[in-house]
Amino acid sequence: MTNSIFTRRDMIKVAAGVGAISASFATTGRIAPAASHTATPAAGMVTVHKLGAVTLHSYTAPEASAMVNTHIVETARELHVIDAQFIQDYAVEARAYADSLGKPIKQLYLSHAHPDHILGASQFADVPFVTTDAVLTDVEASSAMYAGRKEQFGDTTALYLPSGGLATGAGMWDGVAVEISEIKDAEAANTLTFHFPDAGLIVAQDLLYASAHAFPLGNTPNWIAALEGIRDTEGVKIIGAGHGLPASSGAVDDAISYLNFQNDVISNSADAEAAIAAIREAYPGYGAAGLLNFVNYRFQ
Ligand SMILES: [Zn+2]
Repeated sequence: MTNSIFTRRDMIKVAAGVGAISASFATTGRIAPAASHTATPAAGMVTVHKLGAVTLHSYTAPEASAMVNTHIVETARELHVIDAQFIQDYAVEARAYADSLGKPIKQLYLSHAHPDHILGASQFADVPFVTTDAVLTDVEASSAMYAGRKEQFGDTTALYLPSGGLATGAGMWDGVAVEISEIKDAEAANTLTFHFPDAGLIVAQDLLYASAHAFPLGNTPNWIAALEGIRDTEGVKIIGAGHGLPASSGAVDDAISYLNFQNDVISNSADAEAAIAAIREAYPGYGAAGLLNFVNYRFQ
């Protein structure tokens, strides 16, 4: 897949075709959804939410890449990109979409060290790439795993790794208030969330799987506590998920129910096969089903 065979408009049309364009986007009038489209079938989906001074553009990979998200936070003058995809083809699309917005990418941020969020970063190798020191430590411990995952997909691109030093706490992105938090020992060892209080937006990445099967190797109690914190944050209208489409706070309660169910089923099943079957049966419409393969590690 190359940049030339899809356009931002094509991806928007794909999103419109499945009803994924938000009402808030529909009122912005920036791109009128068309009746037909010619997008590549393998293309990801873009949803757009206009939230005051911030516009959230969420590039969601197809099921083949577990619906993993790259979120582009657009401010008046620039773009901030959170996470960089897993498969290069989808990272190429996410980058091309960002470029189509016509504003410079200020920085790429890594929310956590799982490979589905970092291997595509080579498509952003001309952009500063940052994370916190704790996430960077996780990245450094994961290099052999990254190499194995790249080999599995015949990916020969060079790794592009972040620098550390990103501060948590309150900051400003192009005049927009942002609060970066680091959540310990939940879905991953360290996970960053990005809260924009004036926009009513939290980019929660893999703390929230929205109508998608959750990675089953996290610390369930800590993870649920983190989700409760997100749900109870005042004024939040939109939550950027790590996997699945951006959601409202109701999706957090669904995710908490799912995590409790998934953990109980795994704890009470005879083997991984039975656990996976029971989870899929209970949540037949959920995406990212490939992540359930990790259930096997709970039985080793
Ligand atoms: Zn992920």
